[in-house]
Amino acid sequence: MDIKEELLEMAKLSYREGLFAGTSGNLSLYDRMAGIMYITPSSVAYETMKAEDIVKMTLDGEVLEGDKIPSSEWRMHGEIYRCKPEVNAVVHTHSPYATSFAVTHQTVPVILIEMVPFLGGEVEVADFALPGTVEVGTEAVKKLNGKHACLLANHGVLAVGANLDQAHIRAVYVEDAAKIYSLALSSGDVKVIEQKHVEQMKGRR
Ligand code: 13P
Ligand code: ZN
Repeated sequence: MDIKEELLEMAKLSYREGLFAGTSGNLSLYDRMAGIMYITPSSVAYETMKAEDIVKMTLDGEVLEGDKIPSSEWRMHGEIYRCKPEVNAVVHTHSPYATSFAVTHQTVPVILIEMVPFLGGEVEVADFALPGTVEVGTEAVKKLNGKHACLLANHGVLAVGANLDQAHIRAVYVEDAAKIYSLALSSGDVKVIEQKHVEQMKGRR
């Protein structure tokens, strides 16, 4: 599939899944060989977004193709690609349960087995940074050491992957874990998975 089509389909799927409301959130793919990033446009409704609205640009902000303005978070996406050579796709959401923990600055601990293979363990909160600045990316990178996702303080979720499917499913699992953690917190005493078991699960992969 064409890269722009792939990104568009995933943006629409993520929207249908409730990973973001309105025009919030953004997704990108990086062609590392060519040094080109494909990113969703800024403030365009997902229902009406078209493949040609996807912006093709360099990590320095030079737009190569597209009439729309690139996502206001293009610097954050660019910083992730600069700092993490294994990453070629970034999914940024405002999914509600996860974002509620970004608001309370609470780590989502390892409460579910899926969190080990899909997320690399607990989901930490990156320090607050002004939206649209490179610092959103710089702070996130600090929390992505050996992990595939983090929360952005008072903002949302960032999930990364070697490809778009991987980054997307990780964003889905962040929301799933946060939702179940939230329900568990209101039901009783939460028990996290013991560290030795986390290590055993990591060792099995
Ligand atoms: P854009 O519409 O510019 O991508 O912004 C949405 C967002 O999530 C800002 O953090
Ligand atoms: Zn955002």
